[in-house]
Amino acid sequence: MRFATRAIHAGQEPEPRTGAVSVPIYMTSTYSQAVGKEGYEYSRTQNPTRKALEVNLAALEEGDHGLAFSSGMAAITTIMTLLKKGDHVVVADDVYGGTHRLFREIMEGYGLHFEFVDFTRMVEVEAALRDNTKMLWAETPTNPLLKLADLKALAKLGKERNLITVVDNTFATPYLQRPLEYGIDVVVHSTTKYLGGHSDIIGGAIVTSDEDIHSRLRFSQNAVGAIPSPFDCFLALRGIKTLPLRMKVHCANALEAASFLSKVEGILRVHYPGLETHPQHRLAQAQMRAFGGVVSFELSDEARAKAFLGALKLIILGESLGGVESLIEHPASMTHASVPREERESRGISEGLLRFSVGCEDVEDLLDDLERGVHAAGG
Ligand SMILES: *Cc1c(COP(=O)(O)O)cnc(C)c1O
Repeated sequence: MRFATRAIHAGQEPEPRTGAVSVPIYMTSTYSQAVGKEGYEYSRTQNPTRKALEVNLAALEEGDHGLAFSSGMAAITTIMTLLKKGDHVVVADDVYGGTHRLFREIMEGYGLHFEFVDFTRMVEVEAALRDNTKMLWAETPTNPLLKLADLKALAKLGKERNLITVVDNTFATPYLQRPLEYGIDVVVHSTTKYLGGHSDIIGGAIVTSDEDIHSRLRFSQNAVGAIPSPFDCFLALRGIKTLPLRMKVHCANALEAASFLSKVEGILRVHYPGLETHPQHRLAQAQMRAFGGVVSFELSDEARAKAFLGALKLIILGESLGGVESLIEHPASMTHASVPREERESRGISEGLLRFSVGCEDVEDLLDDLERGVHAAGG
């Protein structure tokens, strides 16, 4: 089956007893051991609605196993249980702010070591490897600067040096790129974003085809317990059915918005992998089906950025991304405020940077709104 068909059907055959087409929401904590025939015992361990989502997620990423979590951070935290005290992880330097915070402020306290390097330069990744390095952690495209990591090169390095390779595929979604196909070991998602797609759930996921990694993570999923409710699993499944439809519109609208913004004089830089000016446009063409729904752009300073935001009437000022409604935010004071200022600046997250999650509205209305922002910022 092809992608859109899998999105709608994988894990979701009509329910045998009633024929219900939509997966039932099994709000139950436990199961009668006298009556049940499928081995369900307790809903932290397994639940039929969650199972449907896990099968669906695996099918989307073309992996063997999916695991669902209560948030993207819960999924990421659970992956950390693959590591032991003293282990070293090489991490992309502009990963999601919450991932950075978890690694630095919590996991380092348990004796894990993290080194943040620029994953657009494989020589730097290789140079950061030590005897105790156990994992490579990438995001592609990254947040908020839309930098790419070369999936094929990363998987190759991981295999050569016997490292677990993890890719946070939240921004691209499996509609645009499937890291496991390149030999990456583990894919992680915040289903809160494009997979859910309607800004109405917090959720996370892990997909892998490695049996050993999967059985360790399934054990940890149950042992740690950061599982999603059956209702949230239902909403994630419902959102995923339209993922291909939504992604087409997100990508088309984002490309138009990026082209528009790149012609505005007061905007210093536009970061979007679909623009020919993006330093990794070729790599994006090679490993992504289209270029995603997030566009970041830089005004000269914070005052101009704030003026831009203040003039918008349609695009909502808010954190998060990937919903059908357009959202815009100021990374330096919002999503990336937990990254120390010096580090932010050295990573290129300036005070004038805005991150725009382009929604599925009519693109003319979005361009009109951007026009208001540009005018107010004096561009
Ligand atoms: C949002 C996000 C996360 C964290 O997910 P939550 O669902 O908010 O816990 C992780 N990685 C990326 C790339 C994200 O955008």
